[in-house]
This record gives sequence, C-alpha cells and structure tokens, in this order.
Amino acid sequence: MNSRTAIIGARIFDGLFWHDDQSLLLDGGVITGILPENDLPAGTETIDATGQLLVPGFIDLQVNGGGGVMLNDRQDADAIRTICAAHAQFGTTGLLPTLITDTFEVRARTIEGGRQAKAENVPGFLGLHLEGPHLSVARKGAHDPALIRPMDQADLDAMLACADVFEAMMVTVAPENATVAQVKALADAGIIVSLGHTDTGYGTVAEYANAGARTVTHLFNAMSPLGHREPGVVGGALDIGSLHAGIIADGFHVDPVSMGVALRAKNGPGRIFIVTDAMSTIGSDQTSFLLNGREIFRKGGRLTLADGTLAGADIDMLSSVRFVHEKLNLSLDEAIRMASAYPADAVGIASRKGRLLPGLDADFVLLTEGLDMASTWIGGKRVFQA
Ligand SMILES: [Zn+2]
Repeated sequence: MNSRTAIIGARIFDGLFWHDDQSLLLDGGVITGILPENDLPAGTETIDATGQLLVPGFIDLQVNGGGGVMLNDRQDADAIRTICAAHAQFGTTGLLPTLITDTFEVRARTIEGGRQAKAENVPGFLGLHLEGPHLSVARKGAHDPALIRPMDQADLDAMLACADVFEAMMVTVAPENATVAQVKALADAGIIVSLGHTDTGYGTVAEYANAGARTVTHLFNAMSPLGHREPGVVGGALDIGSLHAGIIADGFHVDPVSMGVALRAKNGPGRIFIVTDAMSTIGSDQTSFLLNGREIFRKGGRLTLADGTLAGADIDMLSSVRFVHEKLNLSLDEAIRMASAYPADAVGIASRKGRLLPGLDADFVLLTEGLDMASTWIGGKRVFQA
C-alpha cells in the first residue's frame, strides 16, 4: 500500500517562505517535500485544497482545559484526549495540558494521566505543563493561595521523574518558592523551567536564567512590571536573550500597545510566543465552571472570579493569531510563527515540529483565505474538518 499523500492547490507557508503553485508531500506522517504537482511521484494520492492556506500547526504551551474539561478536575487520558480534540478545532496540533496550582495528589494523578496519554498516542498531546504550586502568593492571579507552597524534595523528585517521559515537559515556578539549585536540577534534567506568578526583580530573573530557566509564563500577567529603576520580571524577560516568553493575545490580559512594545523590545534569540491559557470553555457552551471549588464566570470573551480577577482566557489559538495579525499590524507570517515555530523553539522540539520542512512531522492547518478554519492534520492524519 502506498502511504504517500500530497495536498495540492494551497498556498503553503513553511514557517519562513510562502510557496505558490506547489504541493506538500507527506509519507508515513512526515513531510517529505514541497514540490510542483507535476513532479509528484507516480501513485501519490492527492487531496485538493485549492484556494486555501496551508500553514504549520499551532503549538500551545499553556492549556488548562477545553471541551468542557478542566485538567484540574480530570487527569485521565480521556480528559487529555478531549482537551486536545477541542483545541484541534482551532488549528492546534500540539499542546501541553496545564495543571493550575493544586495538591500533591492531583499533580501525581496528572503525571500518571500524562503517561497514559503518551502510551495511547493521544493526537496533539506533547507533554505536561505544571503551573505551580511553587509560586508567589503576592502574584497569585487566580491560583488558590491556600495551595501555594515552597518546593520540597518530594516535589522536586516527582517532577524529575517526568524528565524524558514526554516530548516536552514544562514547570512554572517563582523564585520566592523554588531555589536556584532546584531550578538547575530541573533544567539539567531537560525540564523546561518557566518563571511566572512572581514578584521578584531583574537580578533574580538573571540569576535563574543562568541556572537554566528558559521561559517566562504569560508575559506581563502576574509578575513584577517594567519600572524605571527596577526592570522587574517583564524587563528581565525582554532583556535577557536566552529567555523565551509566552503571551496571552486576547486583548484583555495585555493591551495590544504593550504587546507591540514588547515584541519590538525583545532581545533574541529568545522570542515571544502565543499561549491561549485556555480553560474548559473552549469548544464548549459553558457559561461558568469551577476551579479548586471557586466559580469562574464566562462573559464577553473574559473569564473571571467573582471579584473580577482574570482567571485564564476564553480564546483559541486561531483567534489569537488573527488578533496579533490585525490589532498589532503584524504580518501573517510573523503571527503564524508566534503560534508555531517560536513555541517549538522555546521547548526545544524544532527538529520535529513548528515548521513545514522535510523530515518534520506532518502537523498542519488548512485555512480559508479569510483565515477561518478548514481542517487540522496531525501526523499526516486529518483530525478536524470544518
Ligand atoms: Zn498563570
């Protein structure tokens, strides 16, 4: 049986260039080339996508839920499958289900659920993101302060046991409740350490970046701001070239003007990438849900606790791409890279995902010319059709 398939007729964006009058050739779930239809090997099955845009699948490193499921409520492989499927409807081909601050036991169940999801090859599941509980109460956001605590040896061991299990494993910590030595141990083991929900200053950010911290969690939100005498975590994220930073592009978490300033100010090679920080509402008609027993309300594109504190986002990846393209006047190329190539770079999976190059996984999205969803493909298989 011939497993070669080609998508023909679409404008193809590989992450760097647009290709017109070319087709994307796939074989065994991997991209084997971008070439003219006339040059396709004999016997290739073709799929016509005339008039559509074919772009790299979106990679979302912070996803608390979807399809009516919160990871904090359910941690089994089926819950992870539901979350991945909900986000695939909006172009996400790889994501990290993200646990918001919770108990040691819930975190242990989450790690076990992640192992199951990995064993079952759940489409779109890349690994886990543990956001907390080792954060700063002063910058708790919607995290339950009663569950925030310092990292002890059992915590560290539980996370180190996840090293090398997943394609990517991320933990968000605050220097207030995680030591430099702990961060170094996690980073040395290959776990992506992200600084977030922290009130610390620039000097500490630099020290932790030196120890191996690689990213900053939802830039601007729940962290010390850029001040004129203390650059804060925001200043550190922008100034320190080795740091990558996620950002929530829904227009509520960060003003588009501040987003634009940050994008222009960011020192490389680290980049700013889009995360949704989505909750269970994505792909569902929920109007409210519970987080650690507290009700969160969905209204007008926002999710808030009863006191008005933002509690995650009610936005999907494609809407985020459209937001930065339209509201920040970014090229479509750059908007797409912020949702695909840059997150792949941030967690070190660019040799497999994030761009459409020969040898990389055939994870891609077909969009209409008006930037609406047409279909989502993971490993060369169509997982969603609009
Ligand atoms: Zn957060």
